Amino acid sequence: MVEWTRPTSLAEAIAALTTDGAVALGGGTSTALLMKQGLLAPTRLVTLRQVQDLRGVRPTAHGGLAVGAATTLTELADAVRSSYPALAACVDGIGNVRIRNVATVGGALAHADPAQDLPPMLLALDAQVLLAGPSGQRTLPLDGFFAGYMETALQPGELIVHVELPRPSGRSAYLKFTPRSQDDYATVGVACHLSDGAAVIGLAGVAMTPLRLAVPADPGSAAEAAAAAADPLDDLRGSAAYKRAMTAVCVRRAMAGLLA
Ligand SMILES: Cc1cc2nc3c(=O)[nH]c(=O)nc-3n(C[C@H](O)[C@H](O)[C@H](O)COP(=O)(O)OP(=O)(O)OC[C@H]3O[C@@H](n4cnc5c(N)ncnc54)[C@H](O)[C@@H]3O)c2cc1C
Repeated sequence: MVEWTRPTSLAEAIAALTTDGAVALGGGTSTALLMKQGLLAPTRLVTLRQVQDLRGVRPTAHGGLAVGAATTLTELADAVRSSYPALAACVDGIGNVRIRNVATVGGALAHADPAQDLPPMLLALDAQVLLAGPSGQRTLPLDGFFAGYMETALQPGELIVHVELPRPSGRSAYLKFTPRSQDDYATVGVACHLSDGAAVIGLAGVAMTPLRLAVPADPGSAAEAAAAAADPLDDLRGSAAYKRAMTAVCVRRAMAGLLA
């Protein structure tokens, strides 16, 4: 039997999560699947939808945006369409509209499946996360958040409060390569951000965690660096060798498109 808790404040949510078997619920799209497959058996679900501190998108003092963790993917895409168009395009390509209307930014990061699209895009943009838990609040660069396959730096009882995007700069793109259905996870996902002659790429699907790499702002050299950093597994989306080759192709295309 699963109990439900519906906190309205961050303090209540954190307190509810300190009980044994409690799991935070954003949109529930990943959690429901894991429960159905018998991989997760929470005794308490703590829904975050009504926690006001986790909702909304607002400007920061540095000219960027703070995106509340309970913001849905649809709300995120709508909020950033003019300021971070590549991020909006990336989010538009996640799953399908039914998923995007329910899944949240916090859930999309905390789930930490390395094939997800949002993490590499936010890594390329040098986003940070604000976390809050029983011992207080801390800010982490997103690059320090992903700890392993579906593992993060979140401590017991800790929540993502918001994701902070730096002031918009330069040009960005996200290229999702998926030879199967449109709403499938990426075989390889490549985010690319160019600003002031510097290039940063984020990669999905090619390692145990999403990857962030600072690379030369030259498509050929960046492709070579990305393929060297990729450490993919053989799976139903392709062999490791194929994914490594497609990583190079996608990085070259994404960067060449931005430089054209
Ligand atoms: C059919 C389908 C297709 C999909 N296709 C894609 C795709 O193409 N690309 C892609 O990237 N993803 C895809 N996804 C995954 C989807 O993006 C994730 O399911 C979703 O982002 C998770 O968000 P959620 O809010 O529903 O998470 P939930 O299921 O609510 O939570 C996921 C995890 O995050 C934790 N969590 C939630 N919120 C917080 C918080 N604020 N702080 C700390 N921990 C938190 C939960 O405890 C849980 O461990 C797909 C999913 C489905 C079901």
